[in-house]
Amino acid sequence: MPIDHNLVISSLIEIVGAKHVLSAAEDMATTLTDWRGDYHGYAIAVVKPASTAEVSAILQLADKMNIAVIPQGGNTSLCGGATPNQDDNNLVLSTERLNQIRDIDVAGQNITVESGCILDVIKSTADDHDLLFPLDLGARGTCRIGGNLSTNAGGLNVIRYGNMRDLTLGLEVVLMGGKVINLLSSLKKDNTGYDLKNLFIGAEGTLGIITAATLKLFPRPKASATAFAGLRDIDAGIALLNQCQAASGGNVIAFELMPKSIIENVLDFYPDCQPPLKDVPPFSALIEIASTADADSNPDADGTMPLVALLTQTLANAFEDGLISDATIAQHQAQRDALWAIRELTPESEIKAGKAYKSDISIPLRHMAAFYETTTKAVHAIVPNTRIFGFGHIGDGNLHFNLCEPKGGNGDFRRHYPDFDAIMLDILKQYDGSISAEHGIGQKKRDMLRSVKDPAALDVMQMIKQALDPKNLMNPGKVI
Ligand SMILES: Cc1cc2nc3c(=O)[nH]c(=O)nc-3n(C[C@H](O)[C@H](O)[C@H](O)COP(=O)(O)OP(=O)(O)OC[C@H]3O[C@@H](n4cnc5c(N)ncnc54)[C@H](O)[C@@H]3O)c2cc1C
Repeated sequence: MPIDHNLVISSLIEIVGAKHVLSAAEDMATTLTDWRGDYHGYAIAVVKPASTAEVSAILQLADKMNIAVIPQGGNTSLCGGATPNQDDNNLVLSTERLNQIRDIDVAGQNITVESGCILDVIKSTADDHDLLFPLDLGARGTCRIGGNLSTNAGGLNVIRYGNMRDLTLGLEVVLMGGKVINLLSSLKKDNTGYDLKNLFIGAEGTLGIITAATLKLFPRPKASATAFAGLRDIDAGIALLNQCQAASGGNVIAFELMPKSIIENVLDFYPDCQPPLKDVPPFSALIEIASTADADSNPDADGTMPLVALLTQTLANAFEDGLISDATIAQHQAQRDALWAIRELTPESEIKAGKAYKSDISIPLRHMAAFYETTTKAVHAIVPNTRIFGFGHIGDGNLHFNLCEPKGGNGDFRRHYPDFDAIMLDILKQYDGSISAEHGIGQKKRDMLRSVKDPAALDVMQMIKQALDPKNLMNPGKVI
């Protein structure tokens, strides 16, 4: 039976009020397109509930009227996860107004927040209490914690603190039909049956709507040291990473790989950025170590802060060992910001560079160099001069191995994407890697998932989906 759109809209207005239901095309435009502009969808309306009870009422209505619900936080998904398809029964549920910090437990070091809280707001709230919420990524000012949870987001500090799964103690979730599951525990130990919380983390909105979460907090680092080092090659970078971990007692909080192509591209489009080193080496690492000990408590005789001295010594040793060719260490905050700017401007400068095939792969560190070399060769055999923008969180074995059309353009570069998919799948299989490290599956990698996931595991995923969302109304067309 066709869906009566006017009835849907008036019923939603009864739940949240007219101000919080958008249905005009121009009001919904940004919601119906993804961050990269690759996906475009249709929705009857965008609804903005402000409480768990309102979310529950909306999902009750959706179940009754067979309306598909697409949860959306900051809409920064890089795989079309929060963009509806073109069906005429879609409703986007924006978590924008679910934005309260419910509680902060300073002694227990945890915080309970609603799922529409912007990541940066949670970080600064923790900071106000001299604590740290460590999840950090380029979209921190826009993405919302429900989106971070639903993608099991990673980012810059996973190497030290883990991803969203590691950072989450409890959840509150609403299922299609309106049932509210309260898993909002702050306990670190709670062996009372199946771990339902981890079912919803990383489910990309296909099993229910996360309305709130209890998250771990940590002591706030009081000192940090940041360096940019020119690497001999990728294996040298991994050796350097392990040396930095050993020297700092496991306190490497970020270790990012940047190839020459990326640094040159950032400098091309952002000429105000300073090249970190005199010559741009084939690969560089941006390294940060941090300590929660008071920065001023133990300065060396010459006044140098211990952490900076420690990183300087580690890099000097690496230079002696032939692992690095050059390095610079930030001496003050402005220098640190300048080093990080190169990394932070990478996604935007990539967009400016032209058409690019994007990936988010994970690979055992010992195969990273072989993966990089083999894939580069295979890609160049298809489109010579493709710019290989393979950068990212190498400390976690995670690279955004992106392929940018040759300088000057390549008219039909997108035609080669299926070939690039095949290359990636083949080489990742060879090296025990994964097609999705932190961005999720969304609609972009849904079909790929079928060819990489163990069929028995896929069957179990289907059974879970069927049990929780038998009518396939929760974010249809994503993941499975
Ligand atoms: C510049 C830039 C840098 C980035 N860097 C990183 C990075 O380093 N690491 C990383 O992991 N990601 C990164 N991302 C990707 C993106 O920011 C993350 O995936 C983020 O976690 C998504 O949050 P969001 O609020 O924007 O979610 P959205 O895009 O709105 O949604 C993402 C998915 O979660 C679902 N969802 C959203 N809210 C809920 C909810 N309350 N309940 C159930 N499902 C929900 C959506 O349906 C969708 O499937 C980056 C993106 C950009 C643009």
